[in-house]
Amino acid sequence: MFDVLIIGSGVMGMSVARNLKHNQLNIGIIDRDIDGMHASYKAGGMLGAQNEFSNDSPTYRLALKSQQYFKHLNEQLLSEVGSDIEYKETGLIKLAYEPKDNDKVIAQYNFLANVNPNVRLLEQQEAHRLTSNNLNIEDIMALYIPNDHQINANKYTKALYKSLEQNNVERIRHTEVTAITKDKGMYKVITNKGDYYAPKVVVAGGAWSHKLLQAQLKERQLTGVKGEVILMEQEDLDLQSTIFMTNGCYLVPKNKNRVLIGATSHFDDYSVGVSQSGVDWLMESATRHIPQLKYARKLKQWSGVRPHIGNEIPIMDEIEKGLFVITGHYRNGILLSPIVGELMSKWIVTDTKPQILNDFTVEGCVLNGSHD
Ligand SMILES: Cc1cc2nc3c(=O)[nH]c(=O)nc-3n(C[C@H](O)[C@H](O)[C@H](O)COP(=O)(O)OP(=O)(O)OC[C@H]3O[C@@H](n4cnc5c(N)ncnc54)[C@H](O)[C@@H]3O)c2cc1C
Repeated sequence: MFDVLIIGSGVMGMSVARNLKHNQLNIGIIDRDIDGMHASYKAGGMLGAQNEFSNDSPTYRLALKSQQYFKHLNEQLLSEVGSDIEYKETGLIKLAYEPKDNDKVIAQYNFLANVNPNVRLLEQQEAHRLTSNNLNIEDIMALYIPNDHQINANKYTKALYKSLEQNNVERIRHTEVTAITKDKGMYKVITNKGDYYAPKVVVAGGAWSHKLLQAQLKERQLTGVKGEVILMEQEDLDLQSTIFMTNGCYLVPKNKNRVLIGATSHFDDYSVGVSQSGVDWLMESATRHIPQLKYARKLKQWSGVRPHIGNEIPIMDEIEKGLFVITGHYRNGILLSPIVGELMSKWIVTDTKPQILNDFTVEGCVLNGSHD
């Protein structure tokens, strides 16, 4: 028997487990570990707390707070498990993909600059400086968000995993949960390899969470949004900032002259693998403004499935005494994971809900309205 049993070892489940471990609890974390079915290893690693929002909202405020955790988390994980999660203070350029998107950039600038005076519209000279002369913005608008930085999401997810290993969190691998029931005042978690019991259970199953909580999440419109990504290498490109275009394509400069180009968005698509049409869209979008990428070498490609909720408000809730759910972090799960881990673990240990989570309930979700 466990004190707390977590279903799903993506960044959400692992971040909660890592925080809970400080309380000397007996924790188990179950995952079916099917390649391509954990979003967390596949993400671009952007910490886009400002890039992702054009209006004030509870998610925006939570994202800003969580962004602050990464510098320290980088140092902590390095000393704790020897893993460098490659936290880079690259900042981010938000770019109109085509002139008709200029209004969107200006609207976002008007919102962000009001809160953060360091956010600024870019002039050509600065665009050149931030991209080693690779970005021309003659007829398009761009804004610079100096503190939307980035990490290597794959290394971060692996570092969390190592941390659990080191802290004796029991990892139950290659095991699929098929149902959660109640038995003698406990939760009984039924898997393809046997049953587990715990008084507290956390469902952090990403885009699959609703399969285990059909009754509670059916109306919340949780679905998977498949994203395809390619990793390119080019020695003389030297982009210093992330570039995020209004059509959803982004370029994230990584170590060793690499650039991660993401990501397509296919709603209600749980398939694994990268399509030729996906690669074509990514390359066409990326080379429109950074033509030099035509000469880059493709190193890798992959896909992942983001958990998306109809109104884009993530859920962090206790849906029945001792049964918690964390899902729907869509394009911001990496960014939000440190604060979610901290807040949810506090709630689980103290049985007191942190007030800041009041806006992320299953019931409180207003369907069919976007938060920004
Ligand atoms: C291409 C792409 C780019 C992204 N870029 C960014 C970015 O730049 N910045 C950012 O902040 N976020 C980004 N995201 C989003 C981020 O990756 C997700 O929001 C986050 O990883 C979700 O974490 P999670 O733990 O909820 O889900 P997951 O990582 O999907 O983990 C859920 C886990 O639950 C397991 N599971 C599910 N059901 C069961 C079951 N029945 N039994 C056992 N195990 C089960 C799965 O195997 C999986 O491992 C991106 C996502 C994608 C796909």
